[in-house]
Amino acid sequence: MQNNIAHKPRNGWDVYASEDERKKIHELADKYIDFLSSCKTERETVNWVRARLEEAGFAKDVTAPCFFETAKDKTVVMARKGRRSLQHGVRIVGAHADTPRLDFKQHPLYEACDLALAKTHYYGGIRKYQWLSRPLALHGVVVKADGACVEICIGEDPVDPVLVITDLLPHLAYKQNEQKVSDAFEAEKLNVLLGNTPSAKAETGEDKSQPEQKERFKTKILELLYQRYGLIEEDLYSAELQIVPAGQARSAGLDGSLVGGYGQDDRICVFAAFEAFLAETEPEQTQIVIFWDKEEIGSEGATGAKSLFLEYTLKDLVRAWEPDTDPSLVLRQARALSADVHGSIDPDYQDLHDALNSSKLGYGPVFCKFTGHRGKVGSSEATAEYVAWLRNMLNTAGIPWQMAGLGKVDSGGGGTVAKFLAVYGMDIIDFGPGVLGMHSPFEVSSKVDLYATCLAFREFLR
Ligand code: MN
Ligand code: MN
Repeated sequence: MQNNIAHKPRNGWDVYASEDERKKIHELADKYIDFLSSCKTERETVNWVRARLEEAGFAKDVTAPCFFETAKDKTVVMARKGRRSLQHGVRIVGAHADTPRLDFKQHPLYEACDLALAKTHYYGGIRKYQWLSRPLALHGVVVKADGACVEICIGEDPVDPVLVITDLLPHLAYKQNEQKVSDAFEAEKLNVLLGNTPSAKAETGEDKSQPEQKERFKTKILELLYQRYGLIEEDLYSAELQIVPAGQARSAGLDGSLVGGYGQDDRICVFAAFEAFLAETEPEQTQIVIFWDKEEIGSEGATGAKSLFLEYTLKDLVRAWEPDTDPSLVLRQARALSADVHGSIDPDYQDLHDALNSSKLGYGPVFCKFTGHRGKVGSSEATAEYVAWLRNMLNTAGIPWQMAGLGKVDSGGGGTVAKFLAVYGMDIIDFGPGVLGMHSPFEVSSKVDLYATCLAFREFLR
């Protein structure tokens, strides 16, 4: 009889215990930390990916064997031709590059109490209090009426000023302390402090005819935007300006075994999938890797997974590479990973997890067979056959992995892009490393999970 009839997940640090492997783990993490620190929006991520794809010889030429296409600079899909024909199935890895943040409103600028401020509208699932009293940065683009695109990034260079949303002092918080969290922190109070100097022009009364004179502090900000970027207030309507946590991602823990930083959901999968894609250059099956936008708000819009971008691109590809093949067959025969992070068990909130069915940091990437909430509502569930095939692949390669659900039944839930690809009939499952503090300004992941996830993606794409 087989002596390992009981299953026990393996800790990645035990699996990769040699000095050489530990070195590789930390080297990969260093690269990841640099990536995380420089890519904080979906546009920045797509720009970074595009630059590296072009370096690697990829082009927007669908007839070439190394091809990529972008959608509005916010979603990118890349493909590398495999040895076998498309009808034998392609391998798809999809992750998302958008992250929870605070967007500037359409009319952001105002002043109150002789301070200049900006109003925001949050994007994705945030816990509002986590964004108070911490250094923030402004990233994004403003497109002028003539089409010129101005890129903005303030608060990352150590010489830059940062922005902040001030929190209430404890001395006056007695009443707030008694409120429910959802009542105590209001979206309309997520207003970013921009400045405290009045416009000199308005101050000297030089420009008395101008109504802006009454708003001396807001006017000062408009003057700065004009001097530095040539922007006028109307330009802010055609802008995508995002407030994100300022500063670098970091090694975390006394042993430096963790990564702390903003946007790891889901840029850890973007990074791991992209590293894997660049490393596996001679695939059996055609490889498709796609980084979506808008996952955090339900995959809506022209750049989300509900759009037809992937389908259209795949059809272009089939027409160019194998005109006699039916594109719907290619989609149906595909095997896919919905590469996304998993909410691992938090030592302080263990009661919200089913310990038996939760994931742990350090035990490798997590399969989440289904997502959704309540009675599996809104989920896409992978077939038993597909899970069997995948676990055999990872076991054969000696890569640690775990199988888990998200939290206790009826304690919450969530969804990913999996169900939007499952509609084609392809096999797909959620798969990615665990994180703690998901959606917070400083999410935490394990370096060994990043390493094992990257190896797992390589195995899948090989
Ligand atoms: Mn995610
Ligand atoms: Mn998320």
